[in-house]
Amino acid sequence: MSQGVIIVGAGPVGLMLAGELRLAGVDVVVYEKLPAATGESRGLGFTARTAEILDQRGLLARLGEFRWGRQGHFGGVRIDFGELAENHFGVMGLPQSRTEELLEKWCTELGVTFRHGCEVTGYTETDEQVVIGFEGPDGPGQDSALYLVGCDGSRSTVRTLAGIDFPGLAATRGMYLADVVGAGLRMRPIGERVPGGGMVLSVTLEPGVDRIVIHEPGIRPDHGVGELTFTEVADAWQRMTGESVHHASARWMTALTNATGQAAQYRRGRVLVVGDAAHDHAPLGAQGLSVGLQDAVNLGWKLAATVNGRAPEGLLDTYHDERHPVGAELIRNTLAQSLLYLSGEEMEPLRAVMRELVEVPEAARHLAGQVSGLDVRYDLGAGGHPLLGARLDPALELTRPDGARTRVAELLHAARGVLVVTGAAGAQAAEPARGWTDRVDVVTGSWNRADAAGPAGIPETVLLRPDGHVAWTGPQDAELRTALERWFGTAV
Ligand SMILES: Cc1cc2nc3c(=O)[nH]c(=O)nc-3n(C[C@H](O)[C@H](O)[C@H](O)COP(=O)(O)OP(=O)(O)OC[C@H]3O[C@@H](n4cnc5c(N)ncnc54)[C@H](O)[C@@H]3O)c2cc1C
Repeated sequence: MSQGVIIVGAGPVGLMLAGELRLAGVDVVVYEKLPAATGESRGLGFTARTAEILDQRGLLARLGEFRWGRQGHFGGVRIDFGELAENHFGVMGLPQSRTEELLEKWCTELGVTFRHGCEVTGYTETDEQVVIGFEGPDGPGQDSALYLVGCDGSRSTVRTLAGIDFPGLAATRGMYLADVVGAGLRMRPIGERVPGGGMVLSVTLEPGVDRIVIHEPGIRPDHGVGELTFTEVADAWQRMTGESVHHASARWMTALTNATGQAAQYRRGRVLVVGDAAHDHAPLGAQGLSVGLQDAVNLGWKLAATVNGRAPEGLLDTYHDERHPVGAELIRNTLAQSLLYLSGEEMEPLRAVMRELVEVPEAARHLAGQVSGLDVRYDLGAGGHPLLGARLDPALELTRPDGARTRVAELLHAARGVLVVTGAAGAQAAEPARGWTDRVDVVTGSWNRADAAGPAGIPETVLLRPDGHVAWTGPQDAELRTALERWFGTAV
């Protein structure tokens, strides 16, 4: 008998998916080619929506100290998130390694099995299962599962083995990134333009350590891994800023490009791809990790229901249908940001127009909604309440019949469906959900009215999917029973 799911890659996305599957009781094994975490941090924080999804699993509170970022930008055009009506603040300056540590600890608590030091090199698929081949510390081996998920990064082996196309744009620009120890630099957190078409960025990672990013026209976009020297980085920094960092050293450095790619199919048979394996882009908008974690939370409960034999027809395919457009939008907005960030003086008129536009609250909100991830709204059919398919703000509060106050985020900790029935709707509104209480929690109470002032208002009754998106609202939408069947399968 095969176990449920094999995940390839213990990066942030593989870890998030593994935890989501375990919450639904699925057996998960994670294969990771590295023997142990490197402690390296590519990402330095995450967006508002990703903070929300971590909060929905009780994980945000476990992160320890971090700071919220009021200062947003779109390709270097400053957007003050503090001026917007909705809270788009993301988590800033948090090393990716800390997010990964937290997720790995959570997975271990939930009983995920890890096979570190094992590189997946091949697989075969039958009607019933997937059999992988791997190279481990004790030599080659095989393992099987009902499904195989590639969370193995932008050069995904799983995606390649599955023959999934990865169309995109070839690199045209190169950048250097280095975590510099002992330089004591002036901060340029959203980047500064340098005459002649360059851009430099610097942020403090910790006392005495600064991350710098350098775009200088002429940097090769095809630097091989490990080819870059600190002297090249320091020389470029001096040419761009006039400051010497030659006396310092680099704790980590890498060359980056603006290449893009997106998996044409997020699912092929029993194989799925998630995170960077599904979409790759220049990291200038700082959204890759965030979108990957959201992919994982979109897929987790659907794959779990499929493995557990409870999924309604077509549920698993909604992962591609819902997340492929989000990946395409991510690539579009980071390409637009790269143009603004990395082009020369010829882009200045457009930058000036953009600076004017972001003074218009609606325009600033639109761009902020894209980069924060708060505006993702899945197409669950025409009509219906404006919140249908969107996320329900996890900060909304319910007052329960016993007077206790509960945030929406807390209702989602178990990654189950939730039907919220408020006083106005009456207890009989929950009656149709009786056959689904093994998968859907019914919660009664009344919305804290101070929260209900949003443009869409808060519906009397809301059916939430485990990912926190609204699947149905009452009394506006058609039958609750139809929505329950569509997302959670047949009643018992
Ligand atoms: C310089 C830089 C800065 C960034 N900054 C941000 C930021 O601020 N915010 C943000 O949201 N994103 C940022 N990103 C993007 C972010 O780092 C990635 O989107 C994120 O790491 C993707 O996670 P993942 O789990 O999909 O893939 P990865 O983190 O790449 O993990 C893939 C894992 O799979 C393993 N693996 C690969 N092949 C195999 C195999 N065959 N068998 C077994 N294991 C395998 C690898 O060892 C690795 O551990 C940045 C990226 C870069 C490069």
